[in-house]
Amino acid sequence: MKPNKLVMIPGPTPVHSRILEAMSHETVAFKDANFVNDYKNVITDLKTIFDTKKECFVISGSGTLAMEMAIANSTKANDNILIISHGYFGDRFIEMCEKRQLNVDVLSAPWGETVDIKKIEEKLKTKKYDVMTVTHVDTSTGVKANLDAICELHKQYLDTILIVDGVCAGGGESVYVDKMEIDMYITCSQKALGLPPGLAILFANGRSVNKRKSLGNISDSYIDFEKWSPIMHDPSKYWGTPPVNLIWGLAEAVRIIKEEGIETRYKRHEKYAKAIQKAIEALGLTILANKDCRANTLTNVLYFDNIDDLKFRTTLADEGVVVAAGLGEYSGKAFRLGHMGNISKHTIVSTLAAIERTLEKLGYKANGIALKVFLDSIK
Ligand SMILES: *Cc1c(COP(=O)(O)O)cnc(C)c1O
Repeated sequence: MKPNKLVMIPGPTPVHSRILEAMSHETVAFKDANFVNDYKNVITDLKTIFDTKKECFVISGSGTLAMEMAIANSTKANDNILIISHGYFGDRFIEMCEKRQLNVDVLSAPWGETVDIKKIEEKLKTKKYDVMTVTHVDTSTGVKANLDAICELHKQYLDTILIVDGVCAGGGESVYVDKMEIDMYITCSQKALGLPPGLAILFANGRSVNKRKSLGNISDSYIDFEKWSPIMHDPSKYWGTPPVNLIWGLAEAVRIIKEEGIETRYKRHEKYAKAIQKAIEALGLTILANKDCRANTLTNVLYFDNIDDLKFRTTLADEGVVVAAGLGEYSGKAFRLGHMGNISKHTIVSTLAAIERTLEKLGYKANGIALKVFLDSIK
């Protein structure tokens, strides 16, 4: 039997055996009283973890569905939308919005940097936007948005619905949905929550619920807030069949988060990310994201000039670790290393050691430097 590989990509992330076990129970009817109770509790717990009182939707789908759900429930044709993009996933909103005949303005940063807050302010000052989007962590660049500053600015423009794509952040990067006045925060199961793929998660505040109401009939059905809201408050009702086993997995993931404590979890992500980034740089590799905007959930690493991407990733996989390829103009020039969810120090040590072995196989000297720097940094 081939040994298992560590899947250190920006989603899916390694799934804890407790979560897999919780999902392996025999599937029950979705009206089963115990299941209904589990579903209800998980919604309540998620609201507490993400600091929001109003609505939490947990439905079958991937992160992209949650993005679409946010747009569908807050816009109508000809609305003005401002997209703040830090890479490929920020840009994903563009086509989605153009297809819905929205007037799209985009503010994008060069890959590795964030959009200057002054530029966002200028835009909001000069034009009334119905909606604005920002990607908390863009997985293509490893850039974390300056969400605190954007949310502070947005507090002067509360008529604009603020959608935050936290798909690669939720459960790993700190966020307080109500306190920060985020109108919609979206995430999904297979990234920092550490579940298999399959769940789209969306938090919506009162302004968002009112906005949806003001739209009247919308042309979407599956992702309509008004179809799901009754179920999220009473999961014995039916709209679409809930993914029973994934909900149990989510319940276990939430239990793990509660045991660790969400603040401790955020701090763990930060501490390990800083140490990993130091270790990577100690190997002489370059990190795509500027130092002031690096994510705690993943790191995008540029190769030395002459390293062949495929050869590096294939060799690394032989050494037991899978990383993801670079996207866009960084395809072939970088790899993406996920370090989020329920991973431990041991997972990271194994990953860094495998990266060192790979570099040595390719003719470079590593000499345990990444491991040493990582372990020293987390002391
Ligand atoms: C992964 C990701 C998505 C897309 O999620 P899927 O589950 O692949 O549909 C959207 N936004 C960000 C920031 C992501 O990292």
